[in-house]
Amino acid sequence: MIGFGYDLHRLVDGESLILGGLNIESSIGTLAHSDGDVLLHAIIDAILGAIGEGDIGEHFPDTDSANKNLDSKVMLAYTMDLLKSKGYELVNSDNTIVLEKPKLSPIKEDIRSSVAKLLGLPNNRVNIKATTNEKQDSIGKSESIVVYSICQVKEITN
Ligand code: MG
Repeated sequence: MIGFGYDLHRLVDGESLILGGLNIESSIGTLAHSDGDVLLHAIIDAILGAIGEGDIGEHFPDTDSANKNLDSKVMLAYTMDLLKSKGYELVNSDNTIVLEKPKLSPIKEDIRSSVAKLLGLPNNRVNIKATTNEKQDSIGKSESIVVYSICQVKEITN
């Protein structure tokens, strides 16, 4: 089975930028109720989508103060537990990050390794693509960051 995830966060001065559990050196960061890890949020939605479990907002409502500044790694761990409890395991995860700056090419492999570790997958089952929005729209003005994610899952066979 396959699932798709999408997330957008606003980018503002002085906030931290966390992608795939990694702190990224950047003058701008995500504005968020949680830690704003837009990559993990999109991956979580893709996994939830693959197993018919709704979306991240249903599982972690931003109206619940318990979710304020919540570590997205905790949300991902919950999602991985849910996946397993339904009898599935992850096959692979392909992700596209759209942002104008900072340039991610020097650290794409680091992000891949971090995500692979969090997902319990070898690095070659996780792909991280980064692209700009050619200076168009809010992404192009560095006012937002978007991530698209596709995750495949399969039934656990023993
Ligand atoms: Mg989000």
